[in-house]
Amino acid sequence: MNTVHLVKSNEDIIVPKIFCLGKNYAKHAAEMKADVPQKPVVFMKPSSAIVHNGAKVKYPAMTKDLHHETEIYFVIGKEGKNIRKEDARSYITAMGIGLDLTLRDLQTELKNAGNPWLISKGFDGSAPISQAVPVDGVDFNSLELNLTVNGKQRQHGSYKNTIFKIEETIAFISQLFTLERGDLIFTGTPEGVAQLVPGDRLHAELIGHTSIDVEIG
Ligand code: ZN
Repeated sequence: MNTVHLVKSNEDIIVPKIFCLGKNYAKHAAEMKADVPQKPVVFMKPSSAIVHNGAKVKYPAMTKDLHHETEIYFVIGKEGKNIRKEDARSYITAMGIGLDLTLRDLQTELKNAGNPWLISKGFDGSAPISQAVPVDGVDFNSLELNLTVNGKQRQHGSYKNTIFKIEETIAFISQLFTLERGDLIFTGTPEGVAQLVPGDRLHAELIGHTSIDVEIG
């Protein structure tokens, strides 16, 4: 379902686009045996990839290595193009916690062949998102995320450790793409990505703000 729920206005709005950042935490880049990028690594998921709290995500038959990546996401509140870094914050209306579910075996195969990794990242159910809470007065550097799988700790991260901050990311993306109300930007995952199996229950949290529960079916 291609919508995000805004808690402040109690409405579900259409998500036109989902941008995601790759390798935006140094320790995750290291665990992927990749260099820290010099500019944002941007890719997209179709908005049909979105599922909400309580969803059961079907384990795709095409993979043997479904991975979790837990990520803070931001919601764009108004249209903009060529947005300056200094103005970027005013384009963000809300934030939440999301999962960038990834078919790691397929992604590796596609990367090695120099092909787009879309199908390993954009499949149905690959973008579980929580409700989005307002960013009013929030110091982004205070944001922390957490993931448990079947009650066991898997990922913990602090936004302050992201390489490219959301303001810089918005300035970068909006040079080439018009940002629209409802667009989501996933800010990358911290270290600790790992395999999921059918029956796993995920609880991802933007600590103190919002959370989501998802089951792998
Ligand atoms: Zn990711």
